[in-house]
Amino acid sequence: MILVVGGAGYIGSHLVKDLVKKEEVIVLDNLSTGHIEAIDKDALFVQGDLGDPKVLDSIFMHYPIQAVMHFGANSLIGESVINPQKYYLNNVSSTLTLLEAMLKHQVKNFIFSSTAATYGIPKVRLIDESIDTHPINPYGKSKLIIEQILEDYAKAYDFHYVVLRYFNAAGAYETAEIGESHHPETHLIPLVLHHLAGEKDKISIFGADYNTPDGTCIRDYIHVSDLADAHILALEVLMNKSVKTATYNVGNGIGYSVREIVQMCEAITGRTAKVEITERRTGDPACLVASSEKIYKDLGWRAKRNLEQLIESAWTWHLNQKY
Ligand code: UDP
Repeated sequence: MILVVGGAGYIGSHLVKDLVKKEEVIVLDNLSTGHIEAIDKDALFVQGDLGDPKVLDSIFMHYPIQAVMHFGANSLIGESVINPQKYYLNNVSSTLTLLEAMLKHQVKNFIFSSTAATYGIPKVRLIDESIDTHPINPYGKSKLIIEQILEDYAKAYDFHYVVLRYFNAAGAYETAEIGESHHPETHLIPLVLHHLAGEKDKISIFGADYNTPDGTCIRDYIHVSDLADAHILALEVLMNKSVKTATYNVGNGIGYSVREIVQMCEAITGRTAKVEITERRTGDPACLVASSEKIYKDLGWRAKRNLEQLIESAWTWHLNQKY
């Protein structure tokens, strides 16, 4: 049985929907940002906090948990700058409590959701895992601190992990049963689609004076179902013991600018966006594109869905949005 912490959230719920086809799954989520409607009906659900040792003890005592996948974190860069304590308490301290419970109950396999924000402002165009990590905001730092703790735990204890550093997750499940729904929404693709659906006046582009071909920031957008596939492969190699510790980027290797995203959304919806150029957003690197060669070599994972499919799925979800 697999414990998915944060399985009601955007990425966690997509993973759960695929994982229940292969494994028994229990979701722990406090529903602070997740949606109960997003949890697959075939998963068990416990509403509780990952920083609560009593809840964790009761789960580990009652269920034969073989691995933990940890998606339960706060993930807004801007908020982390204004309220770092929230990020260090929820993303670091609570994760330590989860790891403590895992060690206590001898659960040895851990998959950790990390982020491209651990790299900070990289000097290279294609980011591989060997470059230095210099996160520039508390969110990225909180994830890197846990990565470093995992390294130490794996050296000291019988403990194995895979860290997945996500680039820009977007898109929705192929059946459109679940998709992205953040309150407030801050991510580019859902915001552009909200605007094109007539729910928002205009779309703001945060800076058009970056050192990129069209002046807007470049990101590596990865379909949430491709991310889910990477987790399932990571789980397999941890369980069959072919990998003991690993850190992988999960991205497409292709960068799209903000303007290109707006254009693709216009093409897919057949609607025209009203765009304004505003100030740069604090802490935005000009370009973040992953090399995912390492995860391809080790696990055979490659993104299967392109940007068009990603935006189409997000649009279909948007038109059918249930929560
Ligand atoms: N962005 C933008 N307007 C928006 C939201 C985002 O121009 O309303 C830009 C943002 O500055 C970044 C890119 O779109 O360059 C992706 O931002 P998002 O918040 O989706 O993801 P992030 O890269 O911050 O994780």
